[in-house]
Amino acid sequence: MALIVQKYGGTSVGSTERIKNVVRRVAKYKALGHQIVVVVSAMSGETNRLIGLAKEMQAQPDPRELDMVVSTGEQVTVGLVSMGLMQEGLKAKSYTGAQVKITTDSAFTKARILSIDEQNIRTDLANGYVVVVAGFQGVDKEGNITTLGRGGSDTTGVAIAAALHADECQIYTDVDGVYTTDPRVVPEARRLKTITFEEMLEMASLGSKVLQIRAVEFAGKYKVKLRVLSSFEEEGDGTLITFEEDEKMEQAIISGIAFNRDEAKITVRGVPDKPGIAYQILGPVSEANVDVDMIIQNVGVDDSTDFSFTVHRNEFDKAMDILKNQVQSHIGARNVVGDNKTAKVSVVGVGMRSHVGIASKMFRTLAEEGINIQMISTSEIKISVVIDEKYLELAVRVLHKAFDLDQEPA
Ligand code: ADP
Ligand code: ASP
Ligand code: MG
Repeated sequence: MALIVQKYGGTSVGSTERIKNVVRRVAKYKALGHQIVVVVSAMSGETNRLIGLAKEMQAQPDPRELDMVVSTGEQVTVGLVSMGLMQEGLKAKSYTGAQVKITTDSAFTKARILSIDEQNIRTDLANGYVVVVAGFQGVDKEGNITTLGRGGSDTTGVAIAAALHADECQIYTDVDGVYTTDPRVVPEARRLKTITFEEMLEMASLGSKVLQIRAVEFAGKYKVKLRVLSSFEEEGDGTLITFEEDEKMEQAIISGIAFNRDEAKITVRGVPDKPGIAYQILGPVSEANVDVDMIIQNVGVDDSTDFSFTVHRNEFDKAMDILKNQVQSHIGARNVVGDNKTAKVSVVGVGMRSHVGIASKMFRTLAEEGINIQMISTSEIKISVVIDEKYLELAVRVLHKAFDLDQEPA
């Protein structure tokens, strides 16, 4: 007998028919004698719909009230899943995040889990119940409902698995595992049997939304056995996220290609080349809670330099406003220019540590297609470039081919 946490995403619970499908799978595992905790997302499209309603009421929805609204999507699905399980003759009980007591900080819309009171779940499991928990939500110390950021049900699933010391956390979604890149963009993408935590962390942070980054962080930190699987297929091993020391990894140099359309680039031109400038530019941006991703400062010419960085596209206007109105004249910069039609493409692989020439191959491949690289950043296991958004899909496709990702590794 094992204790298994199964998380089902929006598409997998997108209709009552699909929820019945989830119920059948849970019933199958239960019949094998396992203890099951089910974590579910809202029905697909529901979270977007709720955000839309909020914006009809308030141009910039109040974050506390927004969480109050968007957390309801998951409350509906936990009830429906429980009913379906009961209809199959199983004992089932649903919980909101607050009812479990998934305590988070108070950063509405992007809260972090601080602790989980797993006692009630344990008692229910011991009494033969399937426990159904709403993903994506928690409660802060003051009792306010919070949400964990888009895709946050993954994190709920993994955090509950960690709290219960579950034998496995299974993430059921609309693809049958983690692919070399998004299979919707490159049909030749291959499912990976395994991927290391480190690579998965990079892929998630660089835009592959198949797993929310915090879910991967949690799983790595608490050593949760994490697997991504299809909710639409009966069989299949999906993709297991492994620790690097595990044997039998696929030995590819590059494991995957991640991309992110949400990148916007800002350049402050004619900045005096002297100490303190980076801080004077980015200080006000970070005080306004705008996350900065890539940063480049050019070599100074005539005592002045250009300073470029990227932010999330949603925060582009806010960042431009701060730079134009607070920073530009204060530091004596020539002007501030922005482009919110950029995208980031990254190649990821632990094999990069032991192989040279990956960057030059990446740059050559893009050059052959006439794709201009606007910014570059690297780490030990990834190379990212910012390019014009209109070349994003082309870039992903040619890189996928250039690195032989459509072929099984030897
Ligand atoms: P869920 O609602 O189940 O959480 P998501 O839409 O959040 O599902 O994540 C699954 C989607 O992630 C897939 O449909 C796929 O388009 C996308 N995706 C992006 N990159 C990858 C990748 N490398 N491997 C698999 N899926 C990916
Ligand atoms: N329903 C939330 C979202 O759409 C959380 C999730 O699906 O993981 O982002
Ligand atoms: Mg998701």
